Amino acid sequence: MVINFGAGPAKLPREVFVEVQKELLNYANTGLSVMEISHRSKDYMTLHDATLQSVRDILNLPDNYKVILLQGGATGMFAGVALNLIGRTGTADYIVTGGWSSKAAKEAAKYGKVNLVLPKVSKYTTIPGQSTWNLDPNASYVYYCDNETADGTEFPFIPETNGVPLVVDMSSNIFSRPFDITKFGVVYAGAQKNFGPAGITVVIVREDLMNHALPITPAILNFKENFAANSEYNTPPTFIIYVVGKVLEWIKRSGGIKAMYENSIKKSKMVYDRIEKSAEFYSCPIDKPYQSRMNVVFRVGGKTGDEALEAEFLKGAQALKMLQLKGHRSVGGIRASLYNAVTLEDTETLVNYMDEFLAKHKK
Ligand SMILES: *Cc1c(COP(=O)(O)O)cnc(C)c1O
Repeated sequence: MVINFGAGPAKLPREVFVEVQKELLNYANTGLSVMEISHRSKDYMTLHDATLQSVRDILNLPDNYKVILLQGGATGMFAGVALNLIGRTGTADYIVTGGWSSKAAKEAAKYGKVNLVLPKVSKYTTIPGQSTWNLDPNASYVYYCDNETADGTEFPFIPETNGVPLVVDMSSNIFSRPFDITKFGVVYAGAQKNFGPAGITVVIVREDLMNHALPITPAILNFKENFAANSEYNTPPTFIIYVVGKVLEWIKRSGGIKAMYENSIKKSKMVYDRIEKSAEFYSCPIDKPYQSRMNVVFRVGGKTGDEALEAEFLKGAQALKMLQLKGHRSVGGIRASLYNAVTLEDTETLVNYMDEFLAKHKK
């Protein structure tokens, strides 16, 4: 069997695929595939509502936080967040710590004034301390990305905004560690990194933040209208939502978010320890406190990486059926993504391979 270390679309639990396969031609004794039943039918609505409820259950959401399912990916939300919120005061604060938050800030600037909280940098390898941040007390919201999937950084803390609503892109680490939802105004995440196939974005909105959409906001991105329509303003991607529901069930029966968190610590520690033990050969460019549990980026053959050696590393991994380990094109090197469905055994296989590769190439 292969091991998928892909950054997204990423590995999903095999059990889920087996269930989907079993039900594919006949969903809940309808005689139809889940793909071809009406999104207004009772059979579909049952799974739709159960999926929304699973999000609430796993994250333990209080009543004043609403869950919406939207399309357009996390990228759609780069516009969606600004369209729904920036009208509050006309400006927003963006904490840019990597490629994804940088894109979000650029998109938001189409709809209002964007204040960059941090000085621009050419490489994202750390998260500057809060005391250096230039926050605007008049901002509509403060935006950040909790885990920068391409760069390999993750916030070890929740930013303090002194009452300004906090908005976070958790696309690559949601459902992998518990967090205090009451610190947030909006939390959103595309499914394809940690909890489903590509095609749906979970958006959690504090109720009082649904009333600030700019008049030009397309209905399809409007939080209030989509919540009022129970995330069926138009035809939702029913098959994707069905699979997401199954992945969330899998998380629940696998020990919930706490177990996902503990595993993520064990898995990432294994790889980072291996890197540290041989700093002259493997190296991670990220400052230790900000190293991601989800996306471990590293170079092979010294600090700046030896591209020929890295190509050989990838080729050898491929031969051992470890797939999609190539780093993001903006960063280079290797990236091992260790999302919820990646097991401790999968990770051990990678670390053993890193040992062998080192032994073979050490001078
Ligand atoms: C993948 C990713 C995105 C973009 O997701 P799309 O579904 O392609 O729009 C945005 N933010 C983060 C943190 C991501 O990992």
